[in-house]
This record gives sequence, structure tokens and C-alpha cells, in this order.
Amino acid sequence: MPLFNALARSLDPLHGVQAATRQAFDHWYRQAKIPQIRYVAFLTMALYLIYAAIEQNVTSEQVLARFIVHGLMVPGALLAVGVLSFQPSRQRTMFTILTVAPVCTAAANLHFNFGTPLFVHFAPEIYLNLMWTFAVSGLTLRQALATASASVLVILVVTLDHSLEPGMQRLHLIWILASFSFGLLSAFLLERAHKRMFLHQDRLALSASLDGLTGLWNRSRMERFLAEEIARANRYGTPFSVVLIDIDHFKSVNDTHGHAVGDSVLRQFATLLRDSVRVLDKVGRLGGEEFLIVLPENDAAQAKQAVQALQQRINGFAFDRVQRKTASFGIAEYRPGESLDSLLERADQAMYRAKASGRDRIEAL
Ligand code: GH3
Ligand code: MG
Ligand code: MG
Repeated sequence: MPLFNALARSLDPLHGVQAATRQAFDHWYRQAKIPQIRYVAFLTMALYLIYAAIEQNVTSEQVLARFIVHGLMVPGALLAVGVLSFQPSRQRTMFTILTVAPVCTAAANLHFNFGTPLFVHFAPEIYLNLMWTFAVSGLTLRQALATASASVLVILVVTLDHSLEPGMQRLHLIWILASFSFGLLSAFLLERAHKRMFLHQDRLALSASLDGLTGLWNRSRMERFLAEEIARANRYGTPFSVVLIDIDHFKSVNDTHGHAVGDSVLRQFATLLRDSVRVLDKVGRLGGEEFLIVLPENDAAQAKQAVQALQQRINGFAFDRVQRKTASFGIAEYRPGESLDSLLERADQAMYRAKASGRDRIEAL
């Protein structure tokens, strides 16, 4: 299976990653393609108008119908795509037009030209259409593959009868094969490169949010969690609390056993915190031997219960070399309208009160 996974990952770098990451990629990729879709739609619209004008001088067959399709319908659809690209709520409609239109234009081309001597001159529109779908339109690989496959199906169904000479038939097929495979390859390579870049960026963003020693969230990430929690509390009125934790007499660990043991105690302490909270709680290291926990939907009384359980676990834990270690806890429940700094300041004051009244204590403010 490792070989299969390696192969699957080389085809799709997002193979096996969390569903949330895949969704984030899909969302990001579609948004990143919007400007391309817009510019390409307007350019293609202009080219179709020129094509429609030229076409009028090339043939006297179905002049009106050709004008309606190439001068009105296709440019109209592309104009709609361009306009809809400015409206985030209408993107689904935009993508629908963009996936259906190429199949319709391929069918229209065949309807007008196949079986006539002019087909050799008009066939390039069909081949370009396939390349355009994959490599120019701005559709994702999957969308483009569906659209181009539908176009090829229509083309083959119509053109695989015997109205082309065998040599011409083969030429026609090689052009289709070439445009489909060039287009598919370029869309695949582009999407794979974007997936790799996205994953890389995702990992960088994660590592910039983590504390190097303990693997907990770092101060700046905790501040962002807090800002989100504050916005939620102010909007929905749900309570939440924070707990500031400082290990007691930590300096003596370093002084007695050395810095390496100090580091190891910090890591064990961090693991203890992480394993003692709920999944939705956020645990971070603010620096030194100071930690912060954000407890969503907990008022001060509920936070105190959680912290008492945590204190018991800490006091009963045998740390590396130093065995027993205690900590002081400061709890603050968020007050609606309060700033992030003021909330942390109150938690800090509560924690210092716990220190001042003898350590290994829980205080709330
Ligand atoms: P208190 O009970 O008042 O909190 O006393 P304390 O000794 O814990 O507090 P103090 O602020 O005096 O000392 C904190 C110590 O934490 C000082 C510093 O050497 C140590 N420290 C800070 N960061 C790290 C680190 O990343 N690794 C190690 N090993 N020690 C650290
Ligand atoms: Mg301390
Ligand atoms: Mg400290």
C-alpha cells in the first residue's frame, strides 16, 4: 500500500489529507481562478464577435443562424460569465455556464459545418475549444475534464461516420487527441503545482502558529483565538473564560537540574494541559513557564471546576527528575465589550493573587 499511496500522492498531492484541508484548497483555488475566468471570458467574447463578422463573408450557408450563435449567444454567455464573476453569490451559475457553453459551441460548429467542404476550415474552432476548456478557461481540472470529455463524446458521435475520407478522419482524430491530451496535461500539472504550493503554505502557517518547545499554540495564535472568541461572545452573548497558568518556583528546576531538565518538565507540563482539556479548548504557551487556556462556553464557575481537575492531575503527576511540581492559576470570565488586553490583565492579576497567597492555588477575578 505505501507504493499505491506514493503514486496517488504524486498524482494528487492532497491524497490522504484531512477533508477540511481539501475543502480549503477547493475554495481557495476557485477564488484564485476568478480573475482568470473574468479576463478570459471578456477576451473570448471579443474574439467570437470578430469570428462572427468574418464568418459572414466566408459562407452563405445558414448566415442568420451562425450570426445568432456566434454573434449573440456565445458572446452573451461569456458576457454573463464575466459579469457573474463579480458576484460571489452567483459563482455556481457562472461555473455552470462555463462548463456547458464549450460543449454547445462544439455541437454548433458540427451542426453548421460537418459534412460540408468548409469543415476543414472551421474544424480548428473545435480543437481550440478543447485546449481552451482545459488550459485557458479557468475551470478546475475536474470541471474541465467533464466538459472536454462531453465535447469529445459529441464530436466523436457526429464525426465517426463515413462522411470524412479515411485519411482525413485520422487527421481529424489526431488533432482531437493532441488538443485533448495537451490540454489535460497542462491543467493537471497546473493544478498539481497549486496543490503542492497550498500544502506548503498550510504547513508554514501551522508552524508559525506553534510553540517550538512544547508544540502548543504560541502567543500570537492564542491572541487570534481570543479575538475570535471575543467576537463570538459579543455577537451571541455566549460566555467564555481564560486561565493563566504559571509553574511555581520553576527557576529552581533549572538551577538544580539544568536547563535540559527544565525543558523536559515544560514539555511534560504542556502534554498534561493538552490531555486534560476538552477538544474545543485552546491551550497555548505564552512564553517561559506561563501557559494560557481558552475555555469557550464556560463561565467562571465552570472554568473553576475544570481548573480544579487540572490542578489535581498536575499535583499527582511525577515530572522528570523533579517529581512533584505545582502551578498557580488565574481565571477571568470575559465581560461583554471588554478588550483582549483587559481580559488578560485580569487573568494575570488573578494569577498573581494566587502566587501571593501561597502558590498552588486557583484565583478568579
Ligand atoms: P514563581 O513561583 O514566582 O513563578 O517562580 P519562578 O521561578 O517560576 O518564576 P521566575 O519568573 O522567577 O522564573 C521563571 C524561570 O523560567 C526563569 C527562566 O530561566 C525559566 N525559563 C523560561 N523559559 C524557559 C525555557 O524555555 N526553558 C527552560 N528550561 N527554562 C525557562
Ligand atoms: Mg513561575
Ligand atoms: Mg513566570
